[in-house]
Amino acid sequence: MIRISQLKLPAGHSKTELYHKAAKALHIKSEQIASLQIRRQSIDARKKPDIFLIYVVDITLNGISEQNCVSRSKNKDVSIVTERPYQFPKPGTKALRRRPVIIGSGPAGLFCCYMLAQNGYRPILLERGKDVEARKKDVEAFWNGGPLNPESNVSFGEGGAGTFSDGKLNTLIKDKDGRGRHVLSIFVENGAQPEILYEAKPHIGTDVLSNVVKQMRKKIIQLGGEVRFESRVETFRTENGTLTGVILSDGSVIDTETAVLAIGHSARDTFFKLYESGLHMEAKAFAVGLRVEHPQELINQSQYGTLHPDSLGAAPYKVTARTSGGRGVYSFCMCPGGYVVNASSEPGRIAVNGMSYSGRNGANANSAIIVSVTPADYGSDEPLAGIGFQRRLEEKAFSAGCGKIPVERYGDFSDTATTGHIPTEFVPAIKGQWTFADVKSVLPDSLSEAFIEGMEQFGHRIPGFDDANAVVSGIESRTSSPVRIVRDETLQANIRGVYPCGEGAGYAGGITSAAMDGVRVAEAIASCYAPFSETG
Ligand code: FAD
Repeated sequence: MIRISQLKLPAGHSKTELYHKAAKALHIKSEQIASLQIRRQSIDARKKPDIFLIYVVDITLNGISEQNCVSRSKNKDVSIVTERPYQFPKPGTKALRRRPVIIGSGPAGLFCCYMLAQNGYRPILLERGKDVEARKKDVEAFWNGGPLNPESNVSFGEGGAGTFSDGKLNTLIKDKDGRGRHVLSIFVENGAQPEILYEAKPHIGTDVLSNVVKQMRKKIIQLGGEVRFESRVETFRTENGTLTGVILSDGSVIDTETAVLAIGHSARDTFFKLYESGLHMEAKAFAVGLRVEHPQELINQSQYGTLHPDSLGAAPYKVTARTSGGRGVYSFCMCPGGYVVNASSEPGRIAVNGMSYSGRNGANANSAIIVSVTPADYGSDEPLAGIGFQRRLEEKAFSAGCGKIPVERYGDFSDTATTGHIPTEFVPAIKGQWTFADVKSVLPDSLSEAFIEGMEQFGHRIPGFDDANAVVSGIESRTSSPVRIVRDETLQANIRGVYPCGEGAGYAGGITSAAMDGVRVAEAIASCYAPFSETG
């Protein structure tokens, strides 16, 4: 197969033009191309308003030698490649006496379970929240002013924290073993758009993601796995430091010698219980900040220029800065055409996040602008001190907004143009109850100052970014886990048989990297154990 990179075409081009361009790079006719598969597509907006798409494509030929064709092309961007598909490891030989248990159905737990089910391990997936349809009703009711259900919300329930998300699937993790591509292909097998396999910034939206999650659950069950909702694991049963079972909140016990702990970063109650039971954990750095909203049109103009073609959709951005005090400030979970959401999971506390639908056609762009924090900010050396730090910020947000999401004009927040009013022409796009309030009171002064310094730097890169009419809301406190559950090279915790996994355990950040970690843990279990058989 021939791979051609750096094929550049104007945005809005046709498929035929792509074939012509590839043929030209190889000095052949388009008809001599037997197949053309896009491997990667990215947007080049450096020469606005002229926007280009840059491709990497894989090509097979009709009746011509690939090697001769590549040599003749004398083009450094043309080469022969051999595809190495992802390989799940050969099963180990140790007999599994009990079915493996996966705790948490977020991307980490779901993909781990999917891989184990596909390979004959008949896993049991335990999820404290409800199935995606029931969960959606609880979340909608909460956003419409109903009470928060602490077991069924934006953080807890089928699909995990990613279900009500923007569904961005890009990750910075290198993919030398092909796990990342395999994860994306599982998304596609279960109903996601095939374009995610090649787009530089793949995105599926909350609407598609919730269907994918449901399809994956059905397949797990067809493959002999089991999925139990409203099943909260409380703690572990152990013997001589080795797992013998998981204990649920109703007091029942599931006997098992392997449990994948993929509980996400919001399962604070479980973290405390498991820490008390002797599971090794350590504090880790993360970041906190505020959601910032701008009109999407402002972002489109700055990223793509005034004449951007409709085919490009709502523009994303990514900004980073370092403050004079040495803190990192950066955009996180940017949602073009999206919504700010109330993502709280504990009564009396407010946490926000962002989501979008697959069309990304909301009027506003939002992203979290977050400031790095380290255990030195937490006020204690305890491994779980970061959770206390998050809780204090979330309580302040709850009290600033009297139970609603506190929202403020950036001009008021930064004291540059104080009006005390949200301008009527820019309406925040928020899922959940919100109110105009003193957001500045939520962040500690040092973090507010870093936030403002970052915003001012971003205003030089995206004109209007630090405009007084931008809107901030808070608090964005769940950017990643403030805790790491320690695991060794076999991916097991100090309690043998327990496999910490995904974002909550500190080994991932985002949907795809959590799913990849789930696959990695499934590989670790499969390399050790033979597939499960009732007869042993
Ligand atoms: P989680 O997804 O948090 O899943 C953990 C699961 O474990 C939950 O379902 C929980 O109910 C369950 N659980 C917890 N405790 C227990 C227990 N004791 N017993 C049984 N079950 C338990 N990332 C991106 O890459 N792209 C995005 O666009 C994006 N947008 C986001 C938008 C929002 C609103 C939110 C909240 C997050 C977003 N993220 C996004 C982050 C992403 O969702 C997480 O990184 C990812 O879900 C982490 O996966 P995980 O499986 O490790 O944990």
